[in-house]
Amino acid sequence: MEFDFDLERVFKIIKDKNCEKVGLQFPEGLKRHAIDIVREIEGKTGARVIISGNPCFGACDVDTILAGRVDMLFHFGHAAMGGYENVVFIEARSSVDVIPAVKAALPLLKTSRIGIVTTVQHIHKLEEIQKFLKENGKEAIIGKGDKRLRYPGQVLGCNFTATRVDCMEFLYIGSGFFHPLGVAIATGKRVIAADPYLNQAGEVSPGRFLRKRNGYIASSMSAKVFGIIVSTKSGQNRIKLAEMLVESAKKQKREAFIIMMDIVTPEQLLAFRVDACVNTACPRITIDDAERFHVPVLTPKEFEIVLGERKWEAFEMDEILQA
Ligand code: SF4
Repeated sequence: MEFDFDLERVFKIIKDKNCEKVGLQFPEGLKRHAIDIVREIEGKTGARVIISGNPCFGACDVDTILAGRVDMLFHFGHAAMGGYENVVFIEARSSVDVIPAVKAALPLLKTSRIGIVTTVQHIHKLEEIQKFLKENGKEAIIGKGDKRLRYPGQVLGCNFTATRVDCMEFLYIGSGFFHPLGVAIATGKRVIAADPYLNQAGEVSPGRFLRKRNGYIASSMSAKVFGIIVSTKSGQNRIKLAEMLVESAKKQKREAFIIMMDIVTPEQLLAFRVDACVNTACPRITIDDAERFHVPVLTPKEFEIVLGERKWEAFEMDEILQA
């Protein structure tokens, strides 16, 4: 396996707590390992196992219904978030070598003081990266984020607070475009993304993304009726923010209605007769599914622009913060 699931810890917890029935929850990318892990747990501990088949996109998304039916729920692939009595987060660290990708990034780094960030899969490699950069004449800074983040240097798609450090340039280590793009917009600084699965590095350019978002904002300017989406997931629920947005809309003579749901999908919104929506659930939904919604879906900050309460130039990423 390319991930370390720390199953010895899982076996120990099951035995120490005398668990008879346990639940397992995996993000989409790790579900293919579920059956093998169940075989191992049942073989080693004798506990009965139930797998959550629900979609899971983050630590914000604990299957609380399954947790209520088992002695212990093991949530794989994410760092701990929120306090649950019988939920254990198992992080699934990647064993991939990150140094070749960092080597590829070296010639692209223009300054000597670099902020380094990554996702939890590679968080255990940050010290090694810091050392490698030092050997190559760079000082690597690892920022401590807010309480939503378990580790210094960690970023989530909804939280870039670990980038609030004194440097002119960032190195992101990980795959995908969303996190490095988020770092670039949240900081307004140069970001080099180093992908340890492809051993490639490149500069992130947020221009196309910003033009698209500006398009959604522009097409919502004349909207009169807004749906304000709220998720019931404990780590995504921003009902207070939604209520504030409804009040702001009223002040600007627009109508806004709160629509609450568990998983937010374009299909579930299809039947609502609204001109545009504002998403207060996972910020990634607004971006990743943008083209699949039947109406423009804005972030809360983009909605402020539409209402005239924020300037276009003050565009910001939507973040879920935890002081
Ligand atoms: S809210 Fe979205 S980006 Fe944040 S942890 Fe949850 S799934 Fe990830």
